[in-house]
Amino acid sequence: MSPRILLLGGTTEALRLARRLSPEAIYSLAGLGRVPDDLPCQVRVGGFGGAEGLAAFIREQGIELLLDMTHPYAAQISANAARAAELSGVACWALRRPGWQPGTGDDWREVDDWSGLVAELRDFRRPLFTLGREPLEHLHEIPPHQYWAVRCLTAQEAVPRAKIIGARGPFDLHGERALFALLGIDVLVSKNSGSQSTEPKLQVARELNVPVLLLRRPELPSVEREFVSLEALAEALQL
Ligand code: NAP
Repeated sequence: MSPRILLLGGTTEALRLARRLSPEAIYSLAGLGRVPDDLPCQVRVGGFGGAEGLAAFIREQGIELLLDMTHPYAAQISANAARAAELSGVACWALRRPGWQPGTGDDWREVDDWSGLVAELRDFRRPLFTLGREPLEHLHEIPPHQYWAVRCLTAQEAVPRAKIIGARGPFDLHGERALFALLGIDVLVSKNSGSQSTEPKLQVARELNVPVLLLRRPELPSVEREFVSLEALAEALQL
C-alpha cells in the first residue's frame, strides 16, 4: 500500500503530480494562485503556522511521507518542511529543480538581493522584471532614465514610468519575442527558477544580446531524498 502523502505545491510539477495522487493524499497550497477543483486527491489552502504547525498537521492527519515540491525560491516553506519531518519522524522527499545554465556568449549576472539588482541595473533603460511582485514596492524609486516592464501574476494600472503586465506562464518563444520588441527591452531580470515553462525569455535575450540579471537562489535544506525532475520523483513513488 502506498504511504499517506502530504504534497506541498506551488509549482507546475506539483500540480501535475497531484493529478496522479489517490483520494487519501493531501495537496497543500499557500493560496496565492489558482486553486484547482478537479483533483483526485484532497486539497487544502493556507499556511500551517510554521514548522511546528506543519508537524502537528502531519501527526493529526497520519501523514507518512512529506513531498516538498514548492518553488526553488520559497525557502521558508522548504525549511519548515525539513524541520517538520524531523519533528514528526516522517520522511521528506523534495523536488530540487536544477537552475538554468548560461550558454556560450550569454551575459548573465547574478545579484544577491534588491539593492544589488538596482546597482546592476543603473546603466540600462528598459528592464523587464519577471521575478514576481517585489518591483511593485519600488515603483516610486524608478530612476528618471528608466521605464520598467513588470510581469507578475496580477495586472495593475500603469504608473507614469512603468507598465505592469498580469500574466501566468507557460510563455512561448513567439510571445516573448513580441514582448521584448514591443517594449524595447534592454535587460531581463529574473529568478533562476529552472522551469521549462518560463525559459523562452532566456532564448530571446540570447538572440537579442540582452543581458540577464538573475537573483541568486536561496539555500535549501537537505532532505532524505532529492529529485531533479518530476519523472524521477514519480517513478520513486511508483505513480
Ligand atoms: P515562502 O516564503 O517559503 O513561504 C511563506 C509561507 O507560506 C510559509 O511559511 C507557509 O506558511 C506558507 N506556504 C508556502 N507554501 C505553502 C504550501 N504549499 N502549503 C501551505 N502553506 C504554504 O514561500 P513564498 O515565496 O511566499 O511562496 C508561496 C508559495 O508560492 C509556495 O508554495 C511556492 O512554491 C509558490 N511560488 C513561489 C514563487 C517564488 O518565487 N517565491 C514562485 C512561484 C510559486 P506557514 O509558515 O504558516 O506554514
